Amino acid sequence: MSTSDKLTDRYKKQNPLTQYPQPPFPRQPQERPGSVNKMEPEPDHGEKSYVGFGRLKDRKALITGGDSGIGRAAAIAFAREGADVAICYLPSEEQNAQEVIKLIEAEGRTAVAIPGDIISEDFCNELVETAVKKLGGLDILVNNAGRQTAQQSIFDLTTEQFDNTFKVNVYAPFWITKAALKHMEAGASIINTASVQSFDPSATLLDYAQTKACNVAFTKALAGQVAEKGIRVNAVAPGPFWTPLQSSGGQPQDKIEKFGSTTLLKRPGQPVELAPVYVLLASQEGSYMTGEVVGATGGEMPY
Ligand code: NAD
Ligand code: MG
Repeated sequence: MSTSDKLTDRYKKQNPLTQYPQPPFPRQPQERPGSVNKMEPEPDHGEKSYVGFGRLKDRKALITGGDSGIGRAAAIAFAREGADVAICYLPSEEQNAQEVIKLIEAEGRTAVAIPGDIISEDFCNELVETAVKKLGGLDILVNNAGRQTAQQSIFDLTTEQFDNTFKVNVYAPFWITKAALKHMEAGASIINTASVQSFDPSATLLDYAQTKACNVAFTKALAGQVAEKGIRVNAVAPGPFWTPLQSSGGQPQDKIEKFGSTTLLKRPGQPVELAPVYVLLASQEGSYMTGEVVGATGGEMPY
């Protein structure tokens, strides 16, 4: 069967306004970090819809936050494109992580599960060493794990939250990238997950938006350091995507009800809609892209 015969409905010409669920959505509070299995409607990470054709054949990839949301979509797509994939996640996310591990293995690829908390520099170093050892090298690093907690006022934003948001979103990618670069050679790719918040901060995301602006500066500065080694560094800047980050405290529940409605496409993105962007940046198809920030926002207005 040729690749075009295998294409699912996702690849058919259709109206992007109605391709995926539209608001209103039910309120669905859950504890951080949240599970995809408690989301309604169920998100699409490409489990049944993403079709690959070998663009990452035999590449070795590490994806932080690969259990759910955007990282899960990248993990599924990378495996379908022929990569071996290690995912990192919090120990409480073991169930979602094991679902992803099974999907990677179903493609005949090596899957490595590395639970732990990336607020620790020691764990970040161990994470990279374990991934390199078990994968047999490292070609692609996706810094995707993130923390987002909405607060109405600067007076509700504690030093503890501020510190934790910066540790997860800014320090951890710095530590993980530093450790990963020691193992990367020409043709390797680093992809950071920034946000529309990097450029258009919401009033309720004072700490988070600052960290996402950091992700953009980090991407551009690092791209300048490692270009001479043939290593590319880019960022993805998503708008509102239907992931547990949002319903587990990332947004107030009244915003979950109308999540995505302020975009031009009037709905949130589904994680699978970002998969091709990560594949492009990871693969040799993105060979002339470095220091770039690629948006996928549905034509975002600040939310
Ligand atoms: P998600 O909750 O599915 O993924 C985030 C993951 O981060 C979690 O699954 C968890 O494994 C990981 N994580 C959080 N704290 C951690 C810690 N201390 N140690 C180890 N892992 C930790 O949500 P998502 O929306 O897919 O988020 C992925 C990235 O996308 C984040 O960087 C987020 O900032 C970014 N983003 C999301 C949106 C959106 O609307 N969903 C928009 C723009 C950017
Ligand atoms: Mg998760």
